[in-house]
Amino acid sequence: MKYPANVNAYCPACKKHTKHKVKLYAKGSARTMAWGQLKHARKLVGYKGKVAGEKKVMKQGKRQKIIIECSVCKKKQERVIGTRTRKKLEITVG
Ligand SMILES: [Zn+2]
Repeated sequence: MKYPANVNAYCPACKKHTKHKVKLYAKGSARTMAWGQLKHARKLVGYKGKVAGEKKVMKQGKRQKIIIECSVCKKKQERVIGTRTRKKLEITVG
């Protein structure tokens, strides 16, 4: 899946369409010592029934996310593009 490196999009801060730079969205890793993560790890220990957060059926593909940055005010927005796809997103030059 290909996407242009620059798009003309609406900026809520500028309240008009401006030129935006496109970047790939990269999810950060979860904090392993966070209270919720520890609680979830405790639940997974030993014999158990159904536990929230464990996937039985994996969906094929992901909905690709991008970050667009306004060239005027430098504010960033998240965007989901297209439908579920197994192909990786590529940002084309230009
Ligand atoms: Zn802006």
